[in-house]
Amino acid sequence: MNNAYFDFVEPKNEPVLSYAPGSAERKALKKAVADLKSQQCDIPAYIGGKEVRSGNKKEIRPPHETGHLLGYFHASDEQQVHDAINAALAARESWAATSWEHRAAIFMKAAELLATKYRFKMNAATMLGQSKNAYQAEIDSACELIDFLRFNVHFLSQVYKQQPLSPQGMDNRMEYRPLEGFVLAVTPFNFTAIGGNLPTAPAMCGNVIVWKPANTQVYSANVFMEILIEAGLPAGVINLIYPSGPVVGDICYAHPYFAGVHFTGSTGVFQSMWKSIGNNIAKYKSYPRIVGETGGKDFVFVHPSSNVDAVVAGLARGSFEYQGQKCSAASRAYLPANLAEEIKTKLVAEVKTMKMGVVDDFTNFINAVIDEKSFESISKYIDGVKNSNGAAKIICGGKCDRTKGWFVEPTIIETTDPSYVTMCEEIFGPVLTIYVYEADQWIQTLDVLDKTSPYALTGAIFSQDRHAIEYMTKALVNSAGNFYINDKPTGAVVGQQPFGGARASGTNDKAGSILNLYRWLSARTIKETYVPPTDYRYAFHQAD
Ligand code: NAD
Repeated sequence: MNNAYFDFVEPKNEPVLSYAPGSAERKALKKAVADLKSQQCDIPAYIGGKEVRSGNKKEIRPPHETGHLLGYFHASDEQQVHDAINAALAARESWAATSWEHRAAIFMKAAELLATKYRFKMNAATMLGQSKNAYQAEIDSACELIDFLRFNVHFLSQVYKQQPLSPQGMDNRMEYRPLEGFVLAVTPFNFTAIGGNLPTAPAMCGNVIVWKPANTQVYSANVFMEILIEAGLPAGVINLIYPSGPVVGDICYAHPYFAGVHFTGSTGVFQSMWKSIGNNIAKYKSYPRIVGETGGKDFVFVHPSSNVDAVVAGLARGSFEYQGQKCSAASRAYLPANLAEEIKTKLVAEVKTMKMGVVDDFTNFINAVIDEKSFESISKYIDGVKNSNGAAKIICGGKCDRTKGWFVEPTIIETTDPSYVTMCEEIFGPVLTIYVYEADQWIQTLDVLDKTSPYALTGAIFSQDRHAIEYMTKALVNSAGNFYINDKPTGAVVGQQPFGGARASGTNDKAGSILNLYRWLSARTIKETYVPPTDYRYAFHQAD
């Protein structure tokens, strides 16, 4: 029962710790990494508040140290998918009826636990399981996830505040109901924060969830589930299971109470989901909400007036941080001929200073790519340069080494063909392709950029000419959902740069913003008339 209007004020972004030599956080994180490495985990699924161990154990190994065993998780079968749906639906009524301030308190408490007690364990799990360096783990699994939780609580209290007009004699209200069924959250490997956000954003709105993370993110997903349980999340509200993608899909999309999917991952998987949902459309109680943020082929366009050092830093960080495995990573750059040589020389020199290796050694900037499948796929693009008949050449990096982990050197390809395959396809690894254009052709080259790829996720322009900046901003209006001026195309912060792309990159429902939360709510409008009319007749049809 609410006897007051409860508001949650706008939070501040969680400060990013530096992990500089000698700092307390560096010591604590190193200890957390060593602790996790000294034990073997045995990760269960979580269904209806119970830990479930199928016995079908899958190994978890750090991508940068495949000789080390971190432990196991118990893969889920078809029955577990049915059990998770049933557990979610059983929890639905009481969760939907739980007062907003109590639902909010659970997620605010989870944010607080993550910011304090669990911060180093969570970062260590992300470093080891997903091969992120300390800084990349801090900005993802600590800060971004804390921000998602706190900001979404704030945004949702703003949604609840929005009410229609009530002229004299009546009361009009809007009630923001959760969806009638369960929501499926399917999450990718590359961000622990996305893994946490996709189930909690709809859950906060009163929905119940079946959550399937990528197998390569189970290690840190399990830490987040520990936090949610300690924060008091009731049994069955979020059910975490590990079936294969097609198994979870086939069962969920055929269920009459399938109410929506919150997905982040590749474009191909999202398109196949949408097709299956469409094929089942007549089975559902309501039209499911389909929210997906997917692949990208993110660009950096350098105008002839650009500051070279800013371009070099933007490309070095934007292309190679977290081994280029960010959906927003810069993977194609258009350089003007007047600056190209200087940019290439400086960039190659910078990239050669990037140390590559295990996450335990904090001096490494580059770690491993996520798994063998990814290693193989990235290596193929690099090998392909050799057979490009001169259309492309490698100007930096290019070595792939699988002896100790899935290591791919940060690689720069230069091509003379703006449609060369690595200018068009998402590679999802540390590979940047450069195309040099004639400086007086910059307007025509914008058009080439816009038409080269089906994606429109992120993109950056560099220039010191205000007229050119304005022109490019307009010319590329549909080329990216997150557009950067004189900055790298990565590093969106919750509450500051709401994230999502258009075209083949997703439904652009902007994770970590109020827009996303509307998708998990079904508003009911209530009109109450205090003194209703008692006669159907109006004045206009009375005789003169
Ligand atoms: P992926 O598509 O391989 O997997 C994503 C999730 O979908 C995983 O949980 C996977 O198990 C599941 N899945 C796979 N096949 C399925 C099926 N047939 N049915 C249902 N689920 C299925 O993606 P990934 O390799 O984990 O992540 C990388 C991709 O994610 C890249 O394409 C990247 O651009 C994209 N991404 C996009 C954003 C964004 O905000 N736009 C953010 C992060 C990652």
